[in-house]
Amino acid sequence: MQLRSLFAAVALAATTFTANAAEELVVYSARIDELIKPVFDAYTEKTGVKISFIADKEAPLLARLQAEGENTPADMLITVDAGNLWQAAQQGVLEPLNSAVIAKNIPAQYRATDGSWTGLSLRARTLAYSPERIKEGELSTYEGLADKHLEGRVCLRTSQKVYNQSLTATMIKTLGEEKTEAVIKGWVNNLATDVFADDTALLMAIDAGQCDVGLVNTYYYGRLAKQNPNVKVKLFWPNQADRGVHVNLSGAGVTKHAPHKAEAIKLLEWMTTPEAQRLFADLNQEYPANESVEASAEVQSWGTFKPDTINVEVAGQLQPEAIKLMDRAGWK
Ligand code: FE
Repeated sequence: MQLRSLFAAVALAATTFTANAAEELVVYSARIDELIKPVFDAYTEKTGVKISFIADKEAPLLARLQAEGENTPADMLITVDAGNLWQAAQQGVLEPLNSAVIAKNIPAQYRATDGSWTGLSLRARTLAYSPERIKEGELSTYEGLADKHLEGRVCLRTSQKVYNQSLTATMIKTLGEEKTEAVIKGWVNNLATDVFADDTALLMAIDAGQCDVGLVNTYYYGRLAKQNPNVKVKLFWPNQADRGVHVNLSGAGVTKHAPHKAEAIKLLEWMTTPEAQRLFADLNQEYPANESVEASAEVQSWGTFKPDTINVEVAGQLQPEAIKLMDRAGWK
């Protein structure tokens, strides 16, 4: 009898210990399952810490974090685009960190100034074109997409997409509002057809001859080229003589009310190390945010370029101005 209650007490203590230790972290992810699961599996194998994740769109995940408040089970938020990460930080759902590991591994222009999020992988939003119909010298800069010789030849994705809002925001910061608006009006005037719902449809329109040039994120090109190695589309790196190519990111932050904050910070720090960076970037054919890590051979085959080094926080800060400007310019 006594022995049995001793066992019961030991069992209870063990249960309590398990519940307190962070043997399982919860991640809310706007990055789809197949692009993050291998990274988490590698972490679990290394540390024994299990990670469960809920993958959904950005907006519902943010709404959920807001609604759950202090009771959230989420330790980390993973999402794409500095514009989205900035919004999450503004809504107060991320915890500002002061991590020497992250500061050492990730360049400052790809992190929040207050440490509330960090970029993990990079993508360029660049020009994609038809090598059959675009002649040498016809492409130069983002601004050049507004030139007369491209009339009726340009494709754009909808201005509702944060990728285009972020690109516009960085242009406002660099070129000023007036110049940016004139450029974007020029893009809209040069449209070959209605705006597209996604980058892949835009790339396929170039391949099919519906238009000659457009703006896309590099990994969409990578995906399509992998499926169809004969795709008649190439990437062009604009603004190499001045500010460089617009680079954005996917990234993550530890949540404000993370139940396992210390463990979540460890996971995020690990995600910035070379080991995790290679995996995280390669899964989506992106560029590692940690500059000591090389991109995959496939990504490197697209060529090298000078990136715009503007702090990507601008994408969030100037997002309202960007949306208004795109609307004024008639970008649907
Ligand atoms: Fe995307």
